[in-house]
Formats: sequence, C-alpha cells, structure tokens
Amino acid sequence: MSLRPQATIPPVPDDTARVARAAFPRGTPYLVLRDRLGAVFADADFADLYPRLGQPAYAPWRLALVTVMQFREGLSDRAALNAVAAVEPAWLRAIAPPEWHERYDRRVEEWRLRIGDAKRAAYIAQVGADGFVLLAALDADGAPRGVADLPEVALLRRVWARQFERVEPSEGGEGGARLRPVKGRGPADRVESPYDADARYRSKRTTSWSGYMVHLTETCDAGAPRLVVHADTTPANVHEGPRTAPIHDALAAKGLAPAEHLVDSAYVGASQLVEARVRHGIDLIGPGRRDVSWQGRSGGAAFSRADFRVDWERRVAICPEGKEATNWTTCAKKGHGRTGKTFIHVAFRAADCRPCPSRSRCTRARSPYLGRAIAVLHRPEDEALAAARALVEAPGRGGIYAQRQGIEGTISQGVRAFGLRRARYRGLAKTTLQHVATAAAVDLDRIAAWLGGRPLAPTRTSRFAALAA
Ligand code: SF4
Repeated sequence: MSLRPQATIPPVPDDTARVARAAFPRGTPYLVLRDRLGAVFADADFADLYPRLGQPAYAPWRLALVTVMQFREGLSDRAALNAVAAVEPAWLRAIAPPEWHERYDRRVEEWRLRIGDAKRAAYIAQVGADGFVLLAALDADGAPRGVADLPEVALLRRVWARQFERVEPSEGGEGGARLRPVKGRGPADRVESPYDADARYRSKRTTSWSGYMVHLTETCDAGAPRLVVHADTTPANVHEGPRTAPIHDALAAKGLAPAEHLVDSAYVGASQLVEARVRHGIDLIGPGRRDVSWQGRSGGAAFSRADFRVDWERRVAICPEGKEATNWTTCAKKGHGRTGKTFIHVAFRAADCRPCPSRSRCTRARSPYLGRAIAVLHRPEDEALAAARALVEAPGRGGIYAQRQGIEGTISQGVRAFGLRRARYRGLAKTTLQHVATAAAVDLDRIAAWLGGRPLAPTRTSRFAALAA
C-alpha cells in the first residue's frame, strides 16, 4: 500500500453542497467547519507512514477525518481457553468438564456477577481453581506440544500468578483457589487481565479501575477557543508526577510549549518545577503536594516544614522559636537509591528542644535526647516549591490558577459526550489512538461552536449555591 498524495483537497461538488444544505437547513458543525476552515487534514501530513511502492491507498486525510468524526458521534465498532480451543480442540474437549461450558461459553459480564457477595466469591474461587486445572493440564505429560507456549497461555499464567493463590486441601476437603488481596499482589508483574496485557490497576480516592490514564492539556488563552493540544496515555498505575516532563517534551516538539502551565498538585513536585523551567522555560503553576506529616495536617496548630527558615549561605535552619540547627546530612530520597536524588536531613539539638515551651507543637519524639528534625530540599528545588505555593496562594494570582478548572469541564465533556472513560480497544497503542481521536473530536466540536458564536458554557452553579452569591 503506497500513498499518492493529492496536492490539494478537491472542492465540495456543487450538487453535494446543495444536498447537504437541503438535508441540514439549520447547519451542522461539519458544514460550519468545511465552510470556514476548509480541509482539516492533508495527505502530506501522513506521507511518512506509507511505503514508496505498492497499490495506492485510500486517501488518508479522508480516513483521519472519518476517525475523528466517529469519536465525535460515538459510533460503535474471550482469551486463553479460546486460543487453546482453536489450536487443540480434541485435547481441550477431552479435559474440559461439562461445567466449563456453563461457565465459559459466554463472555463474563459484570451484570452476570450481581449475585450477592457469597455467591460471587464462590464463583471467583471456582474460576481461579479452573485456571489452575487448565495450567496444570498444559504442563502435564500428554499435553499437545507448543500449546503451553502460546502467548495467550503465557498471559493466563501471569494473570493467575498475580490474581490467585492456591488453597491447599484441608483434611477431608478439596483444595482450590482464592483471590489474592489487592495489597498481597506484589509489585513485580502487575498484569491485570488476560484480555489486555497493558491494562493496570489504579485506585484513586473513591475510584478503582483497571486500564489506562489519560492526561489532557488544553489552551486557556483569553479570547480564543479552548483547544486540547495534547493527550498523554499511560497504563493506569503510572502516576501523574513522572508524566509532567514527557508532556512538556511532547508540547515542545510540537512547538506548543506554554509560558505557564496550570496543573493540579499531582503534577507538581520540586524536581518538576526546576526541570520545566530549565529545559523548556515553562513556569509550572500548581499548589504542590500537601504536607502529609502530622504537623502539616494540624491546620497551623503545629510547626510544619513551612514554619522553618533556611539560611542557605550559612547552611543553617532556624525554627519558629529562633533556635538554629547546623547538623545537615545529605540522604537518598525514598525509592531513589539508584537515581541519586537526595535531600538534606537537618536535626535540631536536643538541648534546645528539651526545655522548649513549644515542644508539643513541634515534635512527638519521646526521648529527651532527640530534638526536631526536618527534611530540606536542595536550594533550587526548595525555593521553586516555595515560590509555586506562594504563586497559587497569593490573592492576585488565584484568578490565573482558577482557569485550570476548565480542564475538569473538558474531561467531563470527553467522558459524557465522547466515551473517554471506556477503552474501545485493547492495548496501550490503540487506547492512545482512541484518546488522540477523542481530543481531536473535542477540538472540532469547540471550533465549530466558536465559529458558530456559541459561547463557552459557564460552570454550573446549583440553585442552593446561588443563594449565597
Ligand atoms: S522543639 Fe526545638 S525545633 Fe521545635 S520550636 Fe522548640 S526549639 Fe525549635
């Protein structure tokens, strides 16, 4: 398949235009976009994806547009056992008990498992035990050659090792399997599903899911439509902080690195602040992660890290009672033994803290031979974090950070109007494509609204909240 690029997209034939206007007398976003913007994609945009030789392919600009329209309109489009059945049906028929057909002939859907906790637990244990039986049969003498090496079987083995543990037969009873507790699954192989080896588990506040996470970046310039300019997709267990730098790299590669990037606290750490400024000249604006120490959670009743000053020239930390600590030790950050990232551990003298009238607000150390200790970042990081917090908390700047709320509306639009929360495909690569197409669909919608004079919807205020306004 090769590409014979069309230099220019042909104009819409007169008859087609007439029929379209007759069919949609009040117009549609697509008519507005074609009339006002002309062609959205060009063949040249896709030229490097095609080989030089071969049959001419269908015009890629048209395919790309259809894909984006498909996501805008929400148009629509089982694993080891089926693989084994396809390769060795006679062997599988011989080892499969009749109950397996009752359990696995039909795809397992969540609604079929709404049978009460006890029955559900028994069903899951039975599925686990069946899987161990199948895997043992595949490993036994007499198993057909090569079947145990099928990728689907290898994946089943990984999933079962993560999700289930064997239950040894008790006296007079039968052995079986049980689901491992979430915290007992271990950090190594986090594969969650035999249907999708890339999907991962995540629990965030009150929501848990297996799958992916998408990070959307949109513009928020005054007087212009808000457009999604980047969609970054990762397995769900990849946290936000490590994605800040790759997102900035991608924006810079597209020539879209912003001067200021408004983000929520999960994307802001001291190293991200410094890196964004040094590498791309981006001011990362966000509140930083909360101080989760007991002092930080006291609401100001106790002395948190922010209550201590640092004199960088003298390498001294000064506490709220004016005592100075010069005992500085450089330590590896937790989990960063290999990356070399360090922080400074500063310990105050026990002789200063023991008689201190504020001791109960400062340290819970029981030993009278221990004083307060604080963790201090290296100067560029420490100062960047303090500046970022001050920027967000400063009265005049609250407005700029408030603009970040717009992305919540975008995510809501993506979820409600374009099915963003349901992966249509399996695998990271295809799910990434889904998210890019969804972002493009959101943009088409917003450009059409902008050109059609439809204003940005204001944030909804409940009638009760409006009473206080
Ligand atoms: S307990 Fe020690 S570090 Fe804390 S305020 Fe008192 S003297 Fe300062």
